[in-house]
Order: sequence, then C-alpha cells, then structure tokens
Amino acid sequence: MSEQELRRKIVAVGKRAFDYKLLSGTWGNISARLGKNMVLMTPSGFDKSALKPSDIILMDLQGNIIRGKWRPSSEVPVHSLIYKVREDVNAIIHTHSHYATALAVTGQEIPVLTSEFASAVGHKVPVTRYVMSGTQEFAEEVVKNLGEGKAVLLRNHGVIAVGDSLEDAFQTALLVEDEARTFILASSLGYAKPLDIDEVKRLREAYIRGYGQEKRRLNLRF
Ligand code: 13P
Ligand code: ZN
Repeated sequence: MSEQELRRKIVAVGKRAFDYKLLSGTWGNISARLGKNMVLMTPSGFDKSALKPSDIILMDLQGNIIRGKWRPSSEVPVHSLIYKVREDVNAIIHTHSHYATALAVTGQEIPVLTSEFASAVGHKVPVTRYVMSGTQEFAEEVVKNLGEGKAVLLRNHGVIAVGDSLEDAFQTALLVEDEARTFILASSLGYAKPLDIDEVKRLREAYIRGYGQEKRRLNLRF
C-alpha cells in the first residue's frame, strides 16, 4: 500500500473511531507500518476525528522524523516497540473507550464471553500494571502483557489494539469495547460465564480458516 493511501486510511480510522465513541477530545492515537521499518503516526494533541492526510508524520522505528510538520504522538515509544518485536503487526490503535477503560481502572481483564470475540480476537484481554504512559517502561510493560495477542488494557488509562492492517486493529478496538460492555452488563444480571477455552480455540480456528466473504473485514472508505 502506498504512503498516501495509508495516510488516508489513518484519517478514516480517526473519524470512524470517533463516530463509534472509541476516542474523545484529543486522546488516543493511531499508527500504521510503512514498509518494514517506517511508521506513519498521528500528531500529538490533535482531535483524531479531524485529521488531514498531511498531518500524519512519517518516522523510522528509532523515533526519527522523516517527514512531517507536527510533533508526533507522545506514545511513539510504545508504538515503536510493538512494531520492533511483532513483525506481524502493521497497525496500532490506542483508545480510551469507556467500558474497556472502566475495567482498566478496576484492574479486571476482559474474559472471552461471546462467540464473535472468540472468533475475531480469540483471547482474554489482560491488564498491565500502572506505569506512566509515554515512557520506555510503559512501552515494555505493554509489550510484555500484549505477548502474541491483539489487545491489552492499560491500567488506569485505556486500550491498545493491534492488527495486520488498520481495519484489523480498528475492528479489534471496537470488539474490545463491545466485549467490555457486554461483560459489565452481563455481570450486573448475574455471573458472566466465559466460553470454554477449547470452544474459543475452535471458533478462532474456524474464523481464521475463512469466515465471511473475501473482503470480510471492515471496509474503511475514504
Ligand atoms: P497523543 O495526543 O500525544 O497521541 O496522546 C494521547 C494519548 O492518549 C496519550 O496516552
Ligand atoms: Zn492515552
């Protein structure tokens, strides 16, 4: 995918994430890998629902700015470290979505409760310990808890979702918020019973084998 196309997709994700209430104010950030060692990153302190493709900053994985007129996200250290250790990750979204953040504040991981979450994410979402964000220590804590997974809750802060594309990372951020909401609602009615671990595996494998049509993932139009 070309740099220009990825810039436009990041802008589209910012708008969609805002529409789905995953982002508010200037919080959250979005990045995408370009080639093997470069990253397109949202600028710091901007409303991510009102970005222009030219606002996005091109950087290398060492944090050097290659092209861009703004200061990049304060979360460059965690985005860069994830891209360094996870070659399968091509996009990262950090949100402060409400239900997931409520669980991050109370230190509760999100269990796998629904078949859709088992299929499209396939693992429970752990919570990091609290570390001040933007630091190298925070980046290492996130990477440790993320492991080979697709999402992690950031204690007293929010969510990081990763994917092999912007669509994939966005879908995961959305499903994490949906699963967190389901967990909170279901818990208010009674015991929220997680799916059996073997069933989670079976659903995930069936999804990977080919759920839906060829273009099964969210289509981010711009
Ligand atoms: P930036 O605007 O610097 O990306 O920071 C937002 C945020 O959510 C920090 O965790
Ligand atoms: Zn944040």
